[in-house]
Amino acid sequence: MKLICPNCQTVIFSKNVNISSNLAKCNKCKSTHRISELVDRSIIEKINTPPKNAKIRVKKMQDGSIKLFYPKQGFRASMIIPAIITLFGISLLSFWTWSVSREGSTFAIFSAPLWIVVILMLLELINSVTETQTLTLSKTSLILQKDRPIKPQKNVINLKNIQTIKIKNLGMMTFLDLFKFENMKLIFKKNFIYGRVKVPTIIFNRRAVYFLEDADYLEQKWITVILNNMVKSIRLQDEK
Ligand SMILES: [Zn+2]
Repeated sequence: MKLICPNCQTVIFSKNVNISSNLAKCNKCKSTHRISELVDRSIIEKINTPPKNAKIRVKKMQDGSIKLFYPKQGFRASMIIPAIITLFGISLLSFWTWSVSREGSTFAIFSAPLWIVVILMLLELINSVTETQTLTLSKTSLILQKDRPIKPQKNVINLKNIQTIKIKNLGMMTFLDLFKFENMKLIFKKNFIYGRVKVPTIIFNRRAVYFLEDADYLEQKWITVILNNMVKSIRLQDEK
């Protein structure tokens, strides 16, 4: 731990840090702070030592902001099952629609809702293969961008409104999730491992947005803790 005093910016000695009472006392200016509200500089410094096989690219921009870029993942092993289900669904439906409409029956109309589902699944699959994510942390905001062909997302979050950034459990999947065009792999995981999928989450204004859903768990943990401390650190400097 390398806790920084928000009053005078000096490092607080570890002998003045009491984990059990959650308090830390600064030797220089004699102020006392709650540990959970302090910034741990040693965590922020970990930005320079990413875990093995990390895919996030960290870039320090000229204006002092930090850009985290998560590249496109392409088609990967974890998507084989969703892809097979989607393609199987499409061929089965095509065959069914074709055979009932051949008989001149209006029965084919009943396949419409199922068509919507498989097409949504297909679009989501395309999104999952091509999506890139960018997080930009400046002095005032955190911008989360999900660039993808269908329903791209951009969240500009004022740092003052961020409650916390942490790894959080996802709720159970509902049918409506299909219309959000979120990551296909995530939807499948959510569906099969109810409520036990954990993803990096930014909590602000009673809202939650997810990011790097697809990254490796070690990578997710690494960047989430660092980001949370960075946001706290910028805010503390700002309050001074
Ligand atoms: Zn101090």
